[in-house]
Amino acid sequence: PLVLGIETSCDETGVGIVRGHTLLADAVASSVDEHARYGGVVPEVASRAHLEAMIPTVQRALKDAGVAASDLDGIAVTAGPGLAGALLVGVSAAKAYAYALGKPLYGVNHLASHICVDQLEHGALPEPTMALLVSGGHSSLLLAPDITSDVRPLGSTIDDAAGEAFDKVARVLGLGFPGGPAVDRHARDGDPKAIAFPRGLTGARDPLYDFSFSGLKTAVARWVEARRRDGQDVPVADVAASFQEAVVDVLTRKAIRACKDNGVDHLMIGGGVAANSRLRSLAQERCEDAGILLRVPRPKLCTDNGAMVAALGAEMVARGRAASTLDLPADSSLPVTEVSVPGHTHEHGH
Ligand code: ATP
Ligand code: MG
Ligand code: FE
Repeated sequence: PLVLGIETSCDETGVGIVRGHTLLADAVASSVDEHARYGGVVPEVASRAHLEAMIPTVQRALKDAGVAASDLDGIAVTAGPGLAGALLVGVSAAKAYAYALGKPLYGVNHLASHICVDQLEHGALPEPTMALLVSGGHSSLLLAPDITSDVRPLGSTIDDAAGEAFDKVARVLGLGFPGGPAVDRHARDGDPKAIAFPRGLTGARDPLYDFSFSGLKTAVARWVEARRRDGQDVPVADVAASFQEAVVDVLTRKAIRACKDNGVDHLMIGGGVAANSRLRSLAQERCEDAGILLRVPRPKLCTDNGAMVAALGAEMVARGRAASTLDLPADSSLPVTEVSVPGHTHEHGH
Protein backbone atom coordinates (compact mmCIF):
# COMPACT_ATOMS: atom_id res chain seq x y z
CA PRO A 1 0.00 0.00 0.00
CA LEU A 2 1.03 3.60 -0.77
CA VAL A 3 0.66 5.69 2.39
CA LEU A 4 1.53 9.26 3.38
CA GLY A 5 2.40 9.84 7.05
CA ILE A 6 2.30 13.10 9.00
CA GLU A 7 4.24 13.66 12.24
CA THR A 8 3.94 16.79 14.41
CA SER A 9 4.23 15.54 18.00
CA CYS A 10 7.16 17.78 18.95
CA ASP A 11 9.31 20.21 16.95
CA GLU A 12 9.70 18.28 13.69
CA THR A 13 7.13 18.65 10.90
CA GLY A 14 7.63 15.31 9.18
CA VAL A 15 5.90 14.02 6.06
CA GLY A 16 6.90 10.63 4.72
CA ILE A 17 5.64 8.44 1.90
CA VAL A 18 6.13 4.68 1.74
CA ARG A 19 5.00 1.84 -0.47
CA GLY A 20 4.81 -1.17 1.82
CA HIS A 21 8.32 -1.50 3.26
CA THR A 22 9.86 0.85 0.70
CA LEU A 23 10.72 4.42 1.67
CA LEU A 24 9.81 6.85 -1.13
CA ALA A 25 10.09 10.23 0.64
CA ASP A 26 11.08 11.55 4.06
CA ALA A 27 10.64 15.34 4.23
CA VAL A 28 11.36 16.97 7.60
CA ALA A 29 11.18 20.66 8.56
CA SER A 30 12.43 21.36 12.08
CA SER A 31 11.86 24.39 14.29
CA VAL A 32 14.72 23.29 16.58
CA ASP A 33 16.73 26.48 15.92
CA GLU A 34 13.83 28.63 17.12
CA HIS A 35 13.78 26.73 20.44
CA ALA A 36 17.54 26.65 21.02
CA ARG A 37 17.72 30.07 22.69
CA TYR A 38 15.08 28.98 25.23
CA GLY A 39 16.99 25.77 26.04
CA GLY A 40 13.97 23.58 25.28
CA VAL A 41 10.97 23.19 22.98
CA VAL A 42 8.42 26.01 23.41
CA PRO A 43 4.98 24.51 22.59
CA GLU A 44 3.41 27.63 21.06
CA VAL A 45 6.44 28.22 18.86
CA ALA A 46 6.33 24.58 17.71
CA SER A 47 2.60 24.74 16.84
CA ARG A 48 3.02 27.90 14.77
CA ALA A 49 6.02 26.43 12.95
CA HIS A 50 4.01 23.27 12.12
CA LEU A 51 1.23 25.43 10.66
CA GLU A 52 3.66 27.24 8.40
CA ALA A 53 5.59 24.13 7.35
CA MET A 54 2.72 21.67 6.88
CA ILE A 55 1.57 22.27 3.29
CA PRO A 56 5.05 22.90 1.81
CA THR A 57 6.36 19.75 3.51
CA VAL A 58 3.48 17.62 2.15
CA GLN A 59 4.13 19.04 -1.33
CA ARG A 60 7.84 18.35 -1.06
CA ALA A 61 7.22 14.74 0.02
CA LEU A 62 4.83 14.12 -2.90
CA LYS A 63 7.37 15.61 -5.31
CA ASP A 64 10.29 13.60 -3.84
CA ALA A 65 8.26 10.39 -4.02
CA GLY A 66 7.07 11.16 -7.55
CA VAL A 67 3.50 10.12 -6.74
CA ALA A 68 0.16 11.88 -7.05
CA ALA A 69 -1.96 12.44 -3.95
CA SER A 70 -4.83 10.69 -5.74
CA ASP A 71 -2.79 7.44 -5.86
CA LEU A 72 -2.48 7.18 -2.06
CA ASP A 73 -4.18 4.27 -0.26
CA GLY A 74 -4.32 6.14 3.04
CA ILE A 75 -3.21 9.07 5.18
CA ALA A 76 -1.60 8.22 8.52
CA VAL A 77 -0.97 10.72 11.28
CA THR A 78 0.50 10.79 14.79
CA ALA A 79 -2.52 11.00 17.13
CA GLY A 80 -0.30 11.02 20.27
CA PRO A 81 1.55 11.14 22.56
CA GLY A 82 3.17 14.57 22.27
CA LEU A 83 2.51 18.29 22.65
CA ALA A 84 -1.26 18.87 22.43
CA GLY A 85 -1.18 21.96 20.20
CA ALA A 86 1.51 20.49 17.94
CA LEU A 87 -0.39 17.20 17.50
CA LEU A 88 -3.55 19.12 16.66
CA VAL A 89 -1.92 20.74 13.61
CA GLY A 90 -0.94 17.37 12.16
CA VAL A 91 -4.26 15.70 12.96
CA SER A 92 -6.23 18.61 11.44
CA ALA A 93 -4.11 18.57 8.29
CA ALA A 94 -4.42 14.78 7.93
CA LYS A 95 -8.21 14.97 8.29
CA ALA A 96 -8.39 17.72 5.67
CA TYR A 97 -6.30 15.72 3.17
CA ALA A 98 -8.22 12.50 3.89
CA TYR A 99 -11.57 14.22 3.45
CA ALA A 100 -10.61 16.21 0.36
CA LEU A 101 -8.98 13.20 -1.35
CA GLY A 102 -11.54 10.66 -0.16
CA LYS A 103 -8.84 8.47 1.44
CA PRO A 104 -8.96 6.49 4.70
CA LEU A 105 -7.41 8.16 7.76
CA TYR A 106 -5.25 6.27 10.29
CA GLY A 107 -4.52 7.93 13.63
CA VAL A 108 -1.50 6.09 15.06
CA ASN A 109 0.76 6.03 18.10
CA HIS A 110 4.08 7.90 17.83
CA LEU A 111 5.91 5.26 19.90
CA ALA A 112 4.72 2.29 17.83
CA SER A 113 5.82 4.30 14.76
CA HIS A 114 9.36 4.61 16.20
CA ILE A 115 9.42 0.77 16.13
CA CYS A 116 7.60 0.12 12.85
CA VAL A 117 9.98 2.40 10.92
CA ASP A 118 12.54 -0.41 10.99
CA GLN A 119 10.49 -2.26 8.36
CA LEU A 120 11.73 0.38 5.89
CA GLU A 121 15.30 -0.54 6.81
CA HIS A 122 15.33 -4.29 7.49
CA GLY A 123 12.02 -5.60 6.13
CA ALA A 124 9.15 -7.23 8.02
CA LEU A 125 9.51 -7.16 11.81
CA PRO A 126 9.63 -10.59 13.47
CA GLU A 127 6.65 -11.46 15.69
CA PRO A 128 6.75 -10.92 18.54
CA THR A 129 9.05 -7.91 18.17
CA MET A 130 11.33 -7.05 21.10
CA ALA A 131 11.95 -3.31 21.11
CA LEU A 132 14.00 -0.95 23.23
CA LEU A 133 12.34 2.43 22.80
CA VAL A 134 14.56 5.30 23.92
CA SER A 135 13.55 8.86 23.15
CA GLY A 136 13.09 12.33 24.59
CA GLY A 137 10.02 11.40 26.60
CA HIS A 138 10.15 7.60 26.88
CA SER A 139 12.44 4.71 27.80
CA SER A 140 10.80 1.31 27.68
CA LEU A 141 11.28 -2.33 26.82
CA LEU A 142 8.32 -3.42 24.72
CA LEU A 143 7.20 -6.80 23.46
CA ALA A 144 4.88 -6.50 20.46
CA PRO A 145 3.09 -9.65 19.19
CA ASP A 146 1.53 -7.41 16.48
CA ILE A 147 2.86 -3.89 15.89
CA THR A 148 -0.54 -2.75 14.54
CA SER A 149 -2.60 -3.85 17.52
CA ASP A 150 -0.71 -5.37 20.44
CA VAL A 151 2.23 -3.66 22.18
CA ARG A 152 3.07 -4.72 25.75
CA PRO A 153 5.45 -2.87 28.08
CA LEU A 154 7.85 -5.15 30.00
CA GLY A 155 9.39 -2.21 31.84
CA SER A 156 9.91 1.56 31.65
CA THR A 157 11.82 4.37 33.28
CA ILE A 158 10.60 5.21 36.77
CA ASP A 159 11.82 8.82 36.44
CA ASP A 160 13.64 10.53 33.52
CA ALA A 161 13.72 9.28 29.95
CA ALA A 162 17.15 8.49 28.50
CA GLY A 163 16.94 11.41 26.03
CA GLU A 164 15.91 13.75 28.83
CA ALA A 165 19.04 12.74 30.78
CA PHE A 166 21.20 13.45 27.71
CA ASP A 167 19.59 16.87 27.34
CA LYS A 168 20.03 17.74 31.04
CA VAL A 169 23.65 16.62 31.18
CA ALA A 170 24.35 18.65 28.03
CA ARG A 171 22.95 21.71 29.79
CA VAL A 172 25.15 21.12 32.86
CA LEU A 173 28.16 20.87 30.55
CA GLY A 174 27.08 23.99 28.63
CA LEU A 175 26.74 22.11 25.34
CA GLY A 176 23.44 23.73 24.30
CA PHE A 177 20.19 22.30 22.99
CA PRO A 178 19.37 19.69 21.79
CA GLY A 179 21.84 17.90 24.01
CA GLY A 180 21.94 14.30 22.81
CA PRO A 181 23.87 14.84 19.58
CA ALA A 182 26.32 17.24 21.35
CA VAL A 183 27.07 14.75 24.16
CA ASP A 184 27.56 12.02 21.54
CA ARG A 185 30.06 14.23 19.65
CA HIS A 186 32.09 15.28 22.71
CA ALA A 187 32.13 11.74 24.10
CA ARG A 188 34.12 10.54 21.07
CA ASP A 189 37.20 12.33 22.44
CA GLY A 190 36.67 11.17 26.02
CA ASP A 191 37.43 8.13 28.18
CA PRO A 192 34.24 6.21 29.10
CA LYS A 193 36.05 4.77 32.15
CA ALA A 194 37.33 8.13 33.45
CA ILE A 195 34.54 8.56 36.01
CA ALA A 196 32.49 5.76 37.60
CA PHE A 197 28.92 7.11 37.39
CA PRO A 198 26.06 5.01 38.91
CA ARG A 199 24.10 2.39 36.93
CA GLY A 200 20.46 2.84 38.02
CA LEU A 201 18.29 -0.14 39.03
CA THR A 202 20.95 -2.78 38.43
CA GLY A 203 20.98 -4.20 41.97
CA ALA A 204 20.08 -7.82 42.69
CA ARG A 205 16.64 -6.86 44.03
CA ASP A 206 15.82 -4.15 41.49
CA PRO A 207 13.13 -4.67 38.83
CA LEU A 208 14.73 -6.40 35.83
CA TYR A 209 13.32 -4.29 33.00
CA ASP A 210 12.76 -0.87 34.56
CA PHE A 211 15.16 2.05 34.17
CA SER A 212 16.16 5.06 36.28
CA PHE A 213 18.29 7.93 35.00
CA SER A 214 17.56 10.70 37.48
CA GLY A 215 20.21 9.57 40.01
CA LEU A 216 22.80 9.44 37.24
CA LYS A 217 21.89 12.94 36.04
CA THR A 218 22.25 14.26 39.60
CA ALA A 219 25.57 12.45 40.08
CA VAL A 220 26.95 14.09 36.93
CA ALA A 221 25.73 17.55 38.03
CA ARG A 222 27.30 17.12 41.51
CA TRP A 223 30.59 15.92 40.05
CA VAL A 224 30.79 18.89 37.68
CA GLU A 225 29.81 21.40 40.40
CA ALA A 226 32.47 20.05 42.77
CA ARG A 227 35.15 20.53 40.10
CA ARG A 228 34.02 24.08 39.42
CA ARG A 229 33.89 24.87 43.13
CA ASP A 230 37.52 23.76 43.44
CA GLY A 231 38.40 26.05 40.55
CA GLN A 232 39.40 23.09 38.36
CA ASP A 233 38.70 22.66 34.66
CA VAL A 234 35.82 20.35 33.77
CA PRO A 235 37.00 17.57 31.42
CA VAL A 236 33.92 17.81 29.18
CA ALA A 237 34.82 14.92 26.89
CA ASP A 238 35.50 12.51 29.79
CA VAL A 239 32.30 13.49 31.62
CA ALA A 240 30.27 13.10 28.41
CA ALA A 241 31.85 9.72 27.63
CA SER A 242 31.47 8.39 31.19
CA PHE A 243 27.85 9.55 31.45
CA GLN A 244 26.99 8.12 28.04
CA GLU A 245 28.62 4.80 28.93
CA ALA A 246 26.52 4.57 32.12
CA VAL A 247 23.31 5.07 30.09
CA VAL A 248 24.07 2.70 27.24
CA ASP A 249 25.56 0.03 29.53
CA VAL A 250 22.27 -0.27 31.42
CA LEU A 251 20.07 0.01 28.31
CA THR A 252 21.87 -2.75 26.43
CA ARG A 253 22.27 -5.03 29.46
CA LYS A 254 18.56 -4.95 30.30
CA ALA A 255 17.46 -5.23 26.67
CA ILE A 256 19.53 -8.36 26.10
CA ARG A 257 18.30 -9.80 29.37
CA ALA A 258 14.71 -9.25 28.17
CA CYS A 259 15.47 -11.00 24.86
CA LYS A 260 16.98 -14.02 26.64
CA ASP A 261 14.21 -14.27 29.26
CA ASN A 262 11.52 -14.15 26.56
CA GLY A 263 13.26 -16.42 24.07
CA VAL A 264 13.47 -13.69 21.43
CA ASP A 265 16.37 -13.83 18.95
CA HIS A 266 16.43 -10.19 17.82
CA LEU A 267 16.38 -6.69 19.32
CA MET A 268 14.95 -3.58 17.68
CA ILE A 269 16.13 -0.21 19.05
CA GLY A 270 14.12 2.90 18.19
CA GLY A 271 13.54 6.52 19.24
CA GLY A 272 15.85 9.55 19.09
CA VAL A 273 18.46 8.10 21.47
CA ALA A 274 18.89 5.12 19.09
CA ALA A 275 20.80 7.63 16.93
CA ASN A 276 23.55 7.58 19.60
CA SER A 277 26.77 6.17 18.16
CA ARG A 278 27.93 4.45 21.37
CA LEU A 279 24.52 2.85 21.98
CA ARG A 280 24.67 1.48 18.43
CA SER A 281 28.20 0.08 18.77
CA LEU A 282 27.78 -1.40 22.26
CA ALA A 283 24.42 -2.95 21.32
CA GLN A 284 26.03 -4.49 18.22
CA GLU A 285 28.89 -5.92 20.29
CA ARG A 286 26.70 -7.34 23.05
CA CYS A 287 24.04 -8.69 20.68
CA GLU A 288 26.71 -10.52 18.69
CA ASP A 289 28.07 -12.07 21.90
CA ALA A 290 24.54 -13.16 22.88
CA GLY A 291 23.59 -14.48 19.43
CA ILE A 292 20.88 -11.84 19.05
CA LEU A 293 20.19 -10.05 15.75
CA LEU A 294 20.27 -6.26 16.20
CA ARG A 295 17.83 -4.14 14.17
CA VAL A 296 18.42 -0.41 14.44
CA PRO A 297 17.42 2.03 11.68
CA ARG A 298 19.78 4.67 10.24
CA PRO A 299 19.98 7.72 12.60
CA LYS A 300 17.68 9.91 10.48
CA LEU A 301 14.87 7.36 10.86
CA CYS A 302 15.44 7.12 14.66
CA THR A 303 14.66 10.77 15.40
CA ASP A 304 11.15 12.10 14.68
CA ASN A 305 10.07 11.88 11.04
CA GLY A 306 6.99 11.27 8.90
CA ALA A 307 8.23 8.07 7.25
CA MET A 308 7.81 6.17 10.52
CA VAL A 309 4.15 7.19 10.67
CA ALA A 310 3.67 6.18 7.04
CA ALA A 311 5.36 2.82 7.79
CA LEU A 312 2.87 2.03 10.56
CA GLY A 313 -0.02 3.31 8.42
CA ALA A 314 1.04 1.03 5.56
CA GLU A 315 1.12 -1.95 7.93
CA MET A 316 -2.39 -1.06 9.14
CA VAL A 317 -3.65 -0.98 5.55
CA ALA A 318 -1.83 -4.23 4.68
CA ARG A 319 -3.46 -6.00 7.64
CA GLY A 320 -6.91 -4.59 6.90
CA ARG A 321 -7.12 -2.69 10.18
CA ALA A 322 -10.07 -0.32 10.60
CA ALA A 323 -9.49 3.32 9.61
CA SER A 324 -10.14 6.17 12.07
CA THR A 325 -13.25 8.28 11.78
CA LEU A 326 -12.93 11.95 10.83
CA ASP A 327 -13.60 13.04 14.42
CA LEU A 328 -10.21 11.53 15.40
CA PRO A 329 -8.90 13.38 18.48
CA ALA A 330 -5.27 14.23 19.25
CA ASP A 331 -4.30 12.66 22.59
CA SER A 332 -1.21 14.17 24.22
CA SER A 333 -0.91 11.29 26.72
CA LEU A 334 -1.86 8.36 24.46
CA PRO A 335 -0.50 5.22 26.20
CA VAL A 336 1.96 2.99 24.34
CA THR A 337 -0.57 0.14 24.45
CA GLU A 338 -2.99 2.07 22.20
CA VAL A 339 -1.38 1.53 18.80
CA SER A 340 -4.13 3.34 16.92
CA VAL A 341 -7.04 5.63 17.75
CA PRO A 342 -10.30 4.66 16.01
CA GLY A 343 -12.10 7.98 16.55
CA HIS A 344 -13.61 10.19 19.19
CA THR A 345 -16.31 7.78 20.39
CA HIS A 346 -13.68 5.13 21.14
CA GLU A 347 -11.22 7.43 22.87
CA HIS A 348 -9.42 5.55 25.64
CA GLY A 349 -10.39 6.21 29.23
CA HIS A 350 -14.03 7.01 28.41
P1 ATP B 1 9.07 10.90 22.29
O1 ATP B 1 9.41 10.09 21.09
O2 ATP B 1 9.30 10.19 23.57
O3 ATP B 1 7.74 11.55 22.19
P2 ATP B 1 10.63 13.00 21.16
O4 ATP B 1 9.79 12.71 19.98
O5 ATP B 1 10.83 14.41 21.61
O6 ATP B 1 10.12 12.12 22.36
P3 ATP B 1 12.76 11.87 19.68
O7 ATP B 1 12.85 12.83 18.54
O8 ATP B 1 12.28 10.53 19.41
O9 ATP B 1 12.01 12.43 20.96
O10 ATP B 1 14.16 11.89 20.36
C1 ATP B 1 14.71 13.12 20.80
C2 ATP B 1 15.68 12.80 21.90
O11 ATP B 1 16.75 12.01 21.36
C3 ATP B 1 16.30 14.03 22.53
O12 ATP B 1 16.28 13.87 23.93
C4 ATP B 1 17.72 14.02 21.98
O13 ATP B 1 18.66 14.61 22.85
C5 ATP B 1 17.97 12.53 21.82
N1 ATP B 1 19.03 12.25 20.84
C6 ATP B 1 19.04 12.56 19.52
N2 ATP B 1 20.23 12.19 18.97
C7 ATP B 1 20.97 11.65 19.97
C8 ATP B 1 22.27 11.09 20.06
N3 ATP B 1 23.08 11.04 18.99
N4 ATP B 1 22.70 10.64 21.26
C9 ATP B 1 21.89 10.68 22.34
N5 ATP B 1 20.66 11.20 22.34
C10 ATP B 1 20.20 11.68 21.17
MG1 MG C 1 13.09 17.05 17.96
FE1 FE D 1 9.83 10.68 19.10
